[in-house]
Amino acid sequence: MYDELSWEQRLTLAGGPLCCWYLQQKRALPWRESTSPYRVWISEIMLQQTRSETVKPYFMRFMEEVPDIPALARIDDDRLMKLWEGLGYYSRARNLKKAAGICMERYGGRLPESYVELLTLPGIGSYTAGAISSIAWQERRPAVDGNVLRVLHRLWEDDSDITKPEIKKKLEELLTLFLSDHPEYVPGVFNQALMELGACVCIPHGMPHCDACPVSELCLACRHKSCGRIPYKPSRGVRRQEDRTVFLLFDDSGIVLHKRPDKGLLAGLYELPAAEGCLDERQACDYWQELLGETVSVRALASGKHVFSHIQWNMTAWHIRLRGRVETYKKILEAHNFEVPSLEKARTQYTLSSAFSAWRDIWETAEI
Ligand code: SF4
Repeated sequence: MYDELSWEQRLTLAGGPLCCWYLQQKRALPWRESTSPYRVWISEIMLQQTRSETVKPYFMRFMEEVPDIPALARIDDDRLMKLWEGLGYYSRARNLKKAAGICMERYGGRLPESYVELLTLPGIGSYTAGAISSIAWQERRPAVDGNVLRVLHRLWEDDSDITKPEIKKKLEELLTLFLSDHPEYVPGVFNQALMELGACVCIPHGMPHCDACPVSELCLACRHKSCGRIPYKPSRGVRRQEDRTVFLLFDDSGIVLHKRPDKGLLAGLYELPAAEGCLDERQACDYWQELLGETVSVRALASGKHVFSHIQWNMTAWHIRLRGRVETYKKILEAHNFEVPSLEKARTQYTLSSAFSAWRDIWETAEI
């Protein structure tokens, strides 16, 4: 009986059960304890590309140490990176600080209270601006992320490519009209209900839990059993594979780390020293002896890999112990932009990219 409905009729009928379901079933999450715009902002940025279970401890630690915009604007860069360490996509944290600086200069230390002005801040796109303005101020704006795209494309069985920006834009336009024509829906609740359904019921991987879905009767993909092919995403090209050799390189004073350039992959983060290709024991030994003119002892470590959106690093790893004339080799290391912090300093003040998490235990627990 629901097959012939327009998208708007379908959504109008779905909105009520969806919002009721959300208000009764929503997960207790720390960022939902209040609708303070600052908390919504920080949580939404942390939640991009990251699961809520992972975000929880980061969010609570962040709120404790950086409770408001003035604190965010003045936080030391290295400390900010340390608070973000492990979440990845570090440009998100850098943009938060930049945006906080702008809020101090232009908006008296607060977020601007409109969707359009929020969009002018670094790191805030239409989704985040929609989430903040609808949840904190009930502005009638949608917040369309991957969850919302998936739920709605399944609801009205739309098999267009959700990776295309114009598809997202079209949905934002439809939902903006919908929210302005339907004052019965509280925008913050409506948006969060769609996101929550996408996160918990109409899930991205595996089959959705249609039996537990408050809108299953209205859902065309459920009725026609097309959830496996909707939402449609074209398959990605093959990732470029890069072989690298990384070194956990210790001397009597600490560990050798390298800071990546401020732009590009893992910008501004610290990394383990690395060489191109897959070096065997002899080659690893020669690499450092030739560079530093000192003897080293080498031991094999488990290999690791890290997947970026377009590249995969396949990493061979060696534990290296440096011996020799400290002053001489430290000068050479510095000339090659390496730093040798003490282990304590490296653990507490240096942010090592999660690309190297396979060996984190070794340098976290190493003793000299
Ligand atoms: Fe998703 Fe199933 Fe609900 Fe449709 S019925 S919105 S496919 S969970």
